[in-house]
Amino acid sequence: MALPKTPPRAPRADSVGFAIVGLGDYALNQMMPRFEQSPRSHIAAIVSGNPGKLRSVGEAYGVPEDARYSYDDFDRIAKDKRVDAVYIVLPTGLHAEWTEKAFAVGKHVLCEKPMALSSAECSRMIAASERAKRKLMIAYRCHFEPHNLLAMDLMAQKALGPLRIIRSDQEYRMGPVTPAQNWRLNRALAGGGPLEDFGLYGLQAALYLTQEMPELITASAFRPENDARFTEVFAHVGTHMRFPSGAVAQLSTSYDAAGANIIYARGTTGKLIMDPAIGYSGHKMRLEQAGQPDRDLTPGDPDVQFARQLDHFVAAIRDNSPIKTPGELGLRDVRLIEAIYASAETGRNVWLNPDGTMRT
Ligand code: NAD
Repeated sequence: MALPKTPPRAPRADSVGFAIVGLGDYALNQMMPRFEQSPRSHIAAIVSGNPGKLRSVGEAYGVPEDARYSYDDFDRIAKDKRVDAVYIVLPTGLHAEWTEKAFAVGKHVLCEKPMALSSAECSRMIAASERAKRKLMIAYRCHFEPHNLLAMDLMAQKALGPLRIIRSDQEYRMGPVTPAQNWRLNRALAGGGPLEDFGLYGLQAALYLTQEMPELITASAFRPENDARFTEVFAHVGTHMRFPSGAVAQLSTSYDAAGANIIYARGTTGKLIMDPAIGYSGHKMRLEQAGQPDRDLTPGDPDVQFARQLDHFVAAIRDNSPIKTPGELGLRDVRLIEAIYASAETGRNVWLNPDGTMRT
């Protein structure tokens, strides 16, 4: 675990105090160290079921003892004026419950992706945000990452001509673990598996590159027999989506294939290759356009994505600016995931309404 060697700077008067709920890998090793880079954000409280972690992490981040909460005494946070917002970094199956709890105690919520395991849960989370009159943002960090932002701009400028084909591969090989040992293999906490976790990035990219909603989805999902890793979730999911413009997307995701993290877009006059496309660092991007030399594009350091995501949420809270990745975006994606599984289960095409719900 990456704990800071020196305590964080003192927060500015207008800084938003966050309570971090869930001190797992992503919180400890990626997001918590990045709060230092976001001038109006600071870690005001931590919430964990592990007293040892509460102590060591609390000490390293200068979180006072009375701002270190267990899951059981979370409701006490209602009276804690140091906490403005709650950042939910728990397994996905717990997002809805903890988002609702956070709104019930009057805090804003930044919730990790995927938003939840069902569209019904997402709708409840949005309704809770509206009732509480507090902000809800889904932590889709690629919307703040320079390569992905440039890719969106290039597609908006039709740099490849009309877009025809999107392909994405989000894959890695899960070690020899069981659902009891790793929540990502546990259906109640992870849903169907790789699609919600890693494959969601390809799904998102297909939509933010085409700037369209798919009208048709066909998918298949595979779960091997006699593999202790895949007793509850799928090993691979393959999805074909067609958009009203005629563009098609082929999305592959797997927990049982050698690592890949690729997004590939091809229009009538060029192609864009992002490999790796959506990680924490090391992005590469190549643009090939008819009649021009191929170009490697280096729009900026991917590392800024974490802090810019915090800056964006804080601006929504303090300045009432619009949220690029609101609960509605999370809901849209979960609807599409439901449509993908519906197609995989029935072996049929699933036609969609413009809001991503399935046509009956
Ligand atoms: P993790 O397993 O490392 O951490 C999960 C934390 O939740 C642990 O501290 C664990 O103790 C706690 N927890 C509380 N109740 C639990 C329960 N019933 N079962 C299991 N754990 C429980 O997972 P992670 O990789 O940190 O993922 C946490 C969330 O962050 C997930 O929603 C995941 O999708 C998301 N995530 C996002 C990114 C990103 O790039 N945006 C990357 C990784 C993870």
